[in-house]
Amino acid sequence: MAEVVLEKAGKTYPGGVRAVEGFDLRIADGEFVVLVGPSGCGKSTTLRMIAGLEEITEGSISIAGAVVNDVHARDRDIAMVFQNYALYPHMTVERNLSFGLMRRRVHRSRLRALLSSDYRTAMREESAAIDLRVSEAARMLGITDLLDRQPRALSGGQRQRVALGRALVRAPQVFLFDEPLSNLDAKLRVEMRTELRVLHRQLNSTMVYVTHDQEEAMTLGDRLVVMNEGVVQQIDAPTRIYSHPVNRFVAGFVGTPSMNFLEGTLDAQGVFATDDSTIELPSELSTGHRGPVVLGVRPGALQPCEEGRGWKCHLAAVEHLGDRVDLVLEHCGMQLVSRVESSRSFQEGATLWVEPKVGEGVHLFERSKEGRTLASA
Ligand code: ADP
Repeated sequence: MAEVVLEKAGKTYPGGVRAVEGFDLRIADGEFVVLVGPSGCGKSTTLRMIAGLEEITEGSISIAGAVVNDVHARDRDIAMVFQNYALYPHMTVERNLSFGLMRRRVHRSRLRALLSSDYRTAMREESAAIDLRVSEAARMLGITDLLDRQPRALSGGQRQRVALGRALVRAPQVFLFDEPLSNLDAKLRVEMRTELRVLHRQLNSTMVYVTHDQEEAMTLGDRLVVMNEGVVQQIDAPTRIYSHPVNRFVAGFVGTPSMNFLEGTLDAQGVFATDDSTIELPSELSTGHRGPVVLGVRPGALQPCEEGRGWKCHLAAVEHLGDRVDLVLEHCGMQLVSRVESSRSFQEGATLWVEPKVGEGVHLFERSKEGRTLASA
């Protein structure tokens, strides 16, 4: 059982930077959890606390049922894959894969030599087992043909596969990934994402993955942990995070293009008023709320409508994306984006009326620093 549990875990760096606070999370055995948030929100610090590379200053962390606060990184039975592959440049791929295991074997074999007379046989058996693990990992990652090469003779994608292989051969209880795909070009990144998902299915190991890329997070994770300024905002399945964000920060962070936000006031009749427009919101959004609010509308839920309804906009730009078109609009000094089917044609500079389509991603938030979600429809 490689469950990982963080209880009120926190980290204040010397000098007083409070990087992570009150982090509560139970990662199930075999689960793929992604920590996601903007740069500096404390993702790497959290991962490094799980790895034992960073001491925690509050709370506790357990792996497989045992508290590891004071357990050294090398004794936690975890393997970490970093953004910069950290391969040994003078060793072949094969040696890079087997080196860590061989080094462990040497330590233990010394002990064996003292205890047992036939340690040479044991050494040979272990070498064979290591060879087997290396060839199996190479096969899984499609790098069997590269085993004799040195890292400098590999592409970025191949190097990252070797780095993954080094983690694989160790068959750890938990895999930790710190932005492992960030150095790859966009196409390769998407391919490697799929491979990682497949790998996770095959291994069924616990995996914790850090990225600032919300799209990568959405496609990889069984569950996402969205963080901001050292604090967990929401822990949920990717589709829930998208459809039911708990606050304005999560709503704005997840989804491309980002959600549109309009500040206004809601009255008891469900009329939402901005400085120069009013629209009536359906009851599923407006019920029970009044006063200053923020309306959030996903670009796909902001659609052109008849003149005189919704919001009057200036069509500043038309961005063609093949099967869709993004309309960049200006309304009362605010920029809005509407995503539409590409079958219609639009004229830049024209006036366009748009309205929110409830059911396609429309949300109501408190107009406060926390921006708590009041309703989603
Ligand atoms: P992320 O991975 O989300 O980009 P980090 O965990 O690297 O964020 O950093 C979280 C915060 O902690 C940031 O404000 C960062 O500047 C700070 N920080 C990270 N490492 C150190 C360190 N060794 N000493 C002091 N502050 C640090």
